[in-house]
Amino acid sequence: MDTAELQLIDAHCHVNFSAYRDELDDVIERATDDHIGLVVVGSQSSTSRRAVECAERYDNVWAVIGLHPLHLFEQEVDESEEKGGELVHFRSRAEVFDPNFYGSLIDRSPKVVGIGECGLDFYHVPTDIDPLVFRSRQEELFRLQVDLAFERGLALMIHTRNAADGSTDVHGDVLRILNDCRTDGRMPRGDVHCFSGTTAEAESYLDLGLYLSFTGNVTYKPRKVSPNSEETLHDVIRSVPLERMIVETDAPYLTPVPHRGEKNEPAYVRFVADKIAEIKGLEPDEVYRRTLKNTRDLFVI
Ligand SMILES: [Zn+2]
Ligand SMILES: [Zn+2]
Repeated sequence: MDTAELQLIDAHCHVNFSAYRDELDDVIERATDDHIGLVVVGSQSSTSRRAVECAERYDNVWAVIGLHPLHLFEQEVDESEEKGGELVHFRSRAEVFDPNFYGSLIDRSPKVVGIGECGLDFYHVPTDIDPLVFRSRQEELFRLQVDLAFERGLALMIHTRNAADGSTDVHGDVLRILNDCRTDGRMPRGDVHCFSGTTAEAESYLDLGLYLSFTGNVTYKPRKVSPNSEETLHDVIRSVPLERMIVETDAPYLTPVPHRGEKNEPAYVRFVADKIAEIKGLEPDEVYRRTLKNTRDLFVI
């Protein structure tokens, strides 16, 4: 397809995951028919390679490659509500970040437009590891990928998740690391995906020149963004300027209303954009146009 005809881009989805094994082309074609582009995001070496293969086959698909902090350690992962209602259970494989492997994917394809998803995840804590070691290994992995993004001139796709009990400060930690990079003059372009921090945290990211992307959870009943804040996600969306917002699905997770409970897919990114328009009191067209421009600027596509 002619990418000049795109109306929206789903800036973060995982159609490279095994959840789409039997319907990958159908899912991409439904998005394409609806003038929607896809940025397919890897979480480890195998899904990063699949993201690139997918991007090479379709004009309107691009790839982000990297190692998710969850894949540093082998552990059982249970998800329920977050995954569109269906119970997801998998065993993550422990993987070491190999810069040569990711470097070779970048060399192989101009469709690689970013590094990630990477960052810090304090939600899934293995029981058999010292929490301090757990955090410092995640931080080390994140810094390696920030460096790679900077050196290769690619966008950084940042993942952040706090512990369920509010005992961690993931945004404080990510901001500290990124501020170090800025001080060193090595700060890449980037996006904080599935943003669900406070308005103050949002402002700190915007000060670093980053974009914030929002996903299907904007269509859910608004909840407090943290146990320590009175703000809801809708308050945060009202406060963030459209000029710095991006839309995504994070499919197969976080399916937006009215499809909640079904498997998510990139074509549903329109419901995310429509809800943001409603919350901000804007025309949907304006949200489509501006988030499309932001996504193109971020990934240089
Ligand atoms: Zn993520
Ligand atoms: Zn993701």
